[in-house]
Amino acid sequence: MTPRRFTFASCTVLSCALLAHAPSVHAQQAKTFPAAISLIRQTDLQRDLFMLAGDAMRGREGGSIDELRASVWIAEQLRAIGVEPMGDDGSYLQWWNIRRTRIGASSTVTVGEQSLDMWRDVAMTGTAPAEISAATVWAGDGRDTTIDVSGKVAIAQLIPPPTPRRQTSVNSPEYRYARSAMQSLGFALTRRGAVGVILIADSTAQIAFDGVANIGSRGTYRVDNPATPERAQAMRAPVLLARRSLGAALQSAAGANATIRLHQESFTYPSVNIVGRVLGTDAALRDEYVLFSSHQDHDGVRYDVAGDSIWNGADDNGTTSVALLAIARAFKQTPAKRSALFVYHGAEERGLLGSNYHVQNPVVPLSQIVAVLNGDMLGRNSPDSAALLGSQPPHRNSADLVALALKANQLTSGFAIDSLWDRPSHPEGWYFRSDHLPYARANVPALFFSSNLHEDYHTPRDEPATIDYAKLTRMTQWLYGTGWLVANTASRPRLDAGFRLER
Ligand SMILES: [Zn+2]
Repeated sequence: MTPRRFTFASCTVLSCALLAHAPSVHAQQAKTFPAAISLIRQTDLQRDLFMLAGDAMRGREGGSIDELRASVWIAEQLRAIGVEPMGDDGSYLQWWNIRRTRIGASSTVTVGEQSLDMWRDVAMTGTAPAEISAATVWAGDGRDTTIDVSGKVAIAQLIPPPTPRRQTSVNSPEYRYARSAMQSLGFALTRRGAVGVILIADSTAQIAFDGVANIGSRGTYRVDNPATPERAQAMRAPVLLARRSLGAALQSAAGANATIRLHQESFTYPSVNIVGRVLGTDAALRDEYVLFSSHQDHDGVRYDVAGDSIWNGADDNGTTSVALLAIARAFKQTPAKRSALFVYHGAEERGLLGSNYHVQNPVVPLSQIVAVLNGDMLGRNSPDSAALLGSQPPHRNSADLVALALKANQLTSGFAIDSLWDRPSHPEGWYFRSDHLPYARANVPALFFSSNLHEDYHTPRDEPATIDYAKLTRMTQWLYGTGWLVANTASRPRLDAGFRLER
């Protein structure tokens, strides 16, 4: 794949776009796509995104009433467009349950006379239960291995971890630091026989304390499967992070008895996929589907960052969610030979849950889905470039599909394709972090369109006002154009032989 570069020495974004689309490209575009492509309008995308990612939607957290409100809003837009419902009982909604496991708020931690509030004074990661009563010992910063911590609850000062973690944008640097430091010092002390560990936050970990507590208290999430009953988790030596301000009191309490009672609770509650179709026009091909994929959820209302606690998720993934509405308008006006299936996956941010569920319980047979075109974050970064993940080995699973996507790019948006993010060596591992993945693993030809990460990713700053709507419009045209080509091509994209992901 050769990156496409504009060769003009200087031009504005607009004139670049015009120059890149020489008259022959325009003629070619008009020959290839129906006039309905003009229904992809910047004004619609902007209006819809300000609604879907506005504060009133409260960040659409998976499994919450906020995700449900946003889902009903999307379903209502699909109904107004005239998309046919494909969910449960003639509705647009495909229901499934999240299984959540967490350490409950009734858990208690005491050191000597002090009782520490779980999630306010101390925090942890993981969900393993614990029932401990033992003497405490001050273990310094953990490096003096002559201190006997065996059978005791070790209290120690957190220090930086020996090896820095791989740099990714998942959570803040302070959060990653805190987790990594907790893990290495906690592991060192439990290996020496400590039955529990309380680590006093240093100044960096203290910045992340609210984040560690907030994320830790949420616990873990997966798709509930009644066929596989829960297995009780084994007790484990807990590793707690204590607020920095408690340091002196905890150090002076060393020697006293500590009790740590961590109660695990596990329960289910619903999330939802939103599903609809525009039937194809060709009697022989209409049972085959091009699946346009987004996720409607984001991170909800969390801890305060600079005075804002609503994690709007405008780019992630409000952008693709409104793009699918625009694409549905175009397909509704002029359907293709194959059918177009629109799937909004619930609870993507909780671990690709909705897409995993839909791959296991597809509304049409998986074998009839000829391609999955997933978008995640379409509206930021440089206006003239974008990434197409799944376009080069080992992530590519259909060279045929990639060729159609590159052709559509030439005929619509003319982006320079950023190939770095699709490489197995890229530290973000971006290919593995969105809803096309479960489909690709199930051998459905799949691509992931993205304008990549940015500094507002997974923060309350990912707001509708920060989106480049001209770029979002072009990304939407590209997604539509790819889908149109796939939906009309004589033979469906073939799966590459020997497709195998590196993890
Ligand atoms: Zn996303």
